[in-house]
Amino acid sequence: MNYENYVLDDRFHDHCGVVGVFGHAEAAKLVYLGLYALQHRGQESAGIVSSDGTELHSHRAMGEVEEIFTPDVLDKLPGASAIGHTRYSTAGDKALLNAQPIMIDCNKGKIALGHNGNLTNAAEWRRKLEHRGSIFQTNSDTEVVVHLVAKSQARNLSGALGDALNQVEGAYSLVVLTPDELYAVRDPRGFRPLNLGKLTSPKGEETWIVASETCAFDLLDAKYVREIEPGEMVRISRSGIESIHFAPPKQHQQCIFEHVYFARPDSKIFGRSVNASREMLGRLLAKEYPVDADLVVPVPDSGVPAAVGYAMESGIPFRMGLIRNHYIGRTFIEPSQAIRNFGVKLKLNPIRGLIEGKRVILVDDSIVRGTTSRKIVRMVREAGATEVHVRISCPPTISPCYYGVDTPTREELIASSNTPEEICKFLGADSLGYISLAGLKQAVGDTQGDFCTSCYTGVYPTDLVQLEVREGGSNGQLLKDPGVQDTTPVQTDGPVTVTHEG
Ligand code: SF4
Repeated sequence: MNYENYVLDDRFHDHCGVVGVFGHAEAAKLVYLGLYALQHRGQESAGIVSSDGTELHSHRAMGEVEEIFTPDVLDKLPGASAIGHTRYSTAGDKALLNAQPIMIDCNKGKIALGHNGNLTNAAEWRRKLEHRGSIFQTNSDTEVVVHLVAKSQARNLSGALGDALNQVEGAYSLVVLTPDELYAVRDPRGFRPLNLGKLTSPKGEETWIVASETCAFDLLDAKYVREIEPGEMVRISRSGIESIHFAPPKQHQQCIFEHVYFARPDSKIFGRSVNASREMLGRLLAKEYPVDADLVVPVPDSGVPAAVGYAMESGIPFRMGLIRNHYIGRTFIEPSQAIRNFGVKLKLNPIRGLIEGKRVILVDDSIVRGTTSRKIVRMVREAGATEVHVRISCPPTISPCYYGVDTPTREELIASSNTPEEICKFLGADSLGYISLAGLKQAVGDTQGDFCTSCYTGVYPTDLVQLEVREGGSNGQLLKDPGVQDTTPVQTDGPVTVTHEG
């Protein structure tokens, strides 16, 4: 195996976070706070669109939420409803052009849309739509939805959205804003999370809030109401809240990796505490892969709850033997190889006094390429550990994700072509144990097969023929089309203007 060319960026890339607020005098400020809570879901661009009841106002920029939304910017986003989006994009696709929410002005009126997920047939639809006269302004898969909305014969937006969404495949949790309505929509398989919350003022006035994760509600003092159901479109207006089931039910495919790594442990995802799932992962990992050792040490931060669970189950003391520097960005968003090479040391530092002379169980949530894990193992050994036993709270990742998580190619995934024994050798560890798929499902309470596990099995719930020529990452980036021949007659349904402001 030649690993010399592997980058040190050994984490899955986060996807996106969405927030919506309806019925609050400072809607944009609430969305800003919500995005702040969801910053871990995407750090490269963010945007907010607000409605004053007549017009939509937008600001989008590259960077993190705190730096983009200054008080001056927020003052220019008036109105009682707003949506927001925070985005991760792949290295070659950081253009502001693709930042969201997308804003359009079409025959259905003014619409803004924020998308978490990835449409697996977007390239095919784009080609068809361009053949019919649509002019695309971005290379985002999300824009396909707005062109399909514009072409729908339905008389209202909920009908047009339903028409559009029944023609696309894949993962989408959407927030959609018009001058007088807010929509929250989840695809029929429910890949990505989306939750409904409510804020009630001392005077009894109600504000509806939608967010990818419930940690956004906690920051806003809002109450969690329920999940947006797979295949459900929730429409919120001054007349109240309405639930529309726009698609026939499908076997749910909720992303199991949200519970392993992506979501914040203080969130509830798919109706279940993320922290509880992660602790259970650690407990089951301890049962599946016990080992005599002196300390259980997490790779912070995401490895902490599973390490707590491992320590509780095994009775081996939990110690924070690695300290994370929180004042640098995540290594995977560093733009150059030169910086990446410093990433692990910049990010993690061992406490020698804790580790020296000890047999250490190192608990992490995943191994992608293996390069960062190898450096961490080496770091722990150099701090004096006599043994290093690596325990991973998900099964070997053998296949890429096409549903809104940016993963490297199959060839780059170390577990796609190496056995755990070979990986253990590469890491330089004394032993390696991955939790089983059955253990993972048990930890998240999956008794009905409601979770997607495709990156561990290589079996996908949607057609992926065209994705074999996929370019770059997912997460809203359009996938390369192998060449769909469209014989549908050209139709023109009037202009669609995708606007980019701020
Ligand atoms: Fe989640 Fe993996 Fe399925 Fe992607 S393939 S949705 S990361 S479980």
